[in-house]
Amino acid sequence: MAAVAEVLSTVASQPDPRGCELPTCPVCADSMVAAEASAYLSDHVISYLWTCDTCGYGFVTRHALKKFACN
Ligand SMILES: [Zn+2]
Repeated sequence: MAAVAEVLSTVASQPDPRGCELPTCPVCADSMVAAEASAYLSDHVISYLWTCDTCGYGFVTRHALKKFACN
């Protein structure tokens, strides 16, 4: 498997709830379509494994799951 780098993603509190934040490849800037795998690191942190179809670069993102703030 390709080398895997770890990218810590901070979840921004964006007003658009539909915004599914798909990462881009840090090597060739291609857009990731779907994560290859996901894993819960804890109750509030999920990590996704991404592999770039264009250059084969693999990386992991971590996302903190926040409570939904509904007005
Ligand atoms: Zn790439």
